[in-house]
Amino acid sequence: MAAAPPPRLALRGDLLDFRAAPAWGDTASAAVRFRPDHWLLIEDGCIAGARPSGEPLDASWQPIDHRGRLILPGFIDTHVHSPQLDVIASHGTALLDWLDTYTFPAERRYADPAEAEAGAARFLDALIAHGTTSAVVFPTVHKVSADRLFASAQARGMRLITGKVLMDRHAPDGLRDDVVQAERDCIDLIERWHGNGRLSYAVTVRFAPTSTPEQLAMAGRLCATQEGVYMQTHVAENQDEVRWVAELYPEARSYLDVYARAGLLNGRSVFAHGIWLDDNDRAALQAAGAHIAHSPSSNLFLGSGLFDWRATEAAGVAVSVASDVGGGTSLSMPRNLADAYKVQALRGERLSAWTALHACTRGAALALGLGREIGSLEAGAAADVCVWDWASGPVAQRRHDMAGALHEKVFAWMTLADERNLVAAYIAGIPRFQRRTVPC
Ligand SMILES: [Zn+2]
Repeated sequence: MAAAPPPRLALRGDLLDFRAAPAWGDTASAAVRFRPDHWLLIEDGCIAGARPSGEPLDASWQPIDHRGRLILPGFIDTHVHSPQLDVIASHGTALLDWLDTYTFPAERRYADPAEAEAGAARFLDALIAHGTTSAVVFPTVHKVSADRLFASAQARGMRLITGKVLMDRHAPDGLRDDVVQAERDCIDLIERWHGNGRLSYAVTVRFAPTSTPEQLAMAGRLCATQEGVYMQTHVAENQDEVRWVAELYPEARSYLDVYARAGLLNGRSVFAHGIWLDDNDRAALQAAGAHIAHSPSSNLFLGSGLFDWRATEAAGVAVSVASDVGGGTSLSMPRNLADAYKVQALRGERLSAWTALHACTRGAALALGLGREIGSLEAGAAADVCVWDWASGPVAQRRHDMAGALHEKVFAWMTLADERNLVAAYIAGIPRFQRRTVPC
């Protein structure tokens, strides 16, 4: 791996990104920008432009020929748990049991700095090897877990948003903090990492049941006083959880309202799931400019419910797509998009490849206020770029060969692809993943 980006790099392939948000169901959307067989020009870690492959490049450009391959902006995973690689694909529970049985024991190990460091490296390398170059991440309650995650992301040049998990009740020994120490730890991490290179801090509330009202109030104070920090949490994932929150916070109108009352609903809030919301909640999200990280693979695996994407979009609330590993069963964004299609199919809707791909590239970037930096192949953006095989294996190859219109090809890709399709991943112009073996 190079230590610094080559000064001028040109990647040849089929470039796909978005100029605007595609309308729901529009498979011929003009928002799609497809530039087959072009050079993508990268200079000093940023995208410098593109030109047709027939136009000659002068000798100052280092050409890398990926003709016949798909080049996309690196994916953005807006909700994923770094310690949960250890419990991905665990059998037999719904959300609240799953936390007690699998997640909490795994997270306890991250109190150990060596474990936190090794886990952070393992997690980020896995993300990149799945074509995800930016993420909004939950580590654990331990300060060191966030610290090592920030350091590991910085070493890889990644755009990463994370923060120490806040959790001061309804969690086992070794996984609870307290309000005073947690506030100190957050401020220390913010001073050290927030705005440091490509890193941002997120005030990270696990979910309303594992924080006391006093801790939620402290989190709200941090959001109000620490400029530019994000806020991430879970909301309305599972019906038992929603009932529990109603018992714990009887004064709140709804689950989302618990967060709103604590000052945690704002334009930099990322709410995972949002399955069991009503129209008033969606209106509140829209008014605040907050967004939903839809986690389809997790929702199916844990049996949490079928997210109402159309109602959310109709309310003017942005939707991104997230893996939510380890509730989700893959870090691969195409696999999560394929699950998103199935969730919508069960609701009687048809998710287009354009809406799906937009949600984990440009759409996620805009929802995070990072539209100039990530999520597109626009000149000036960071060169966070992934090169994909259009097909992996004979079945996908046959389907690709038989597909006609662009949407048909891309939808088949989205439905059949996974990390085996990934050829190379660049972050700020530096190759951070190169496939070593070529699948047959
Ligand atoms: Zn989650």
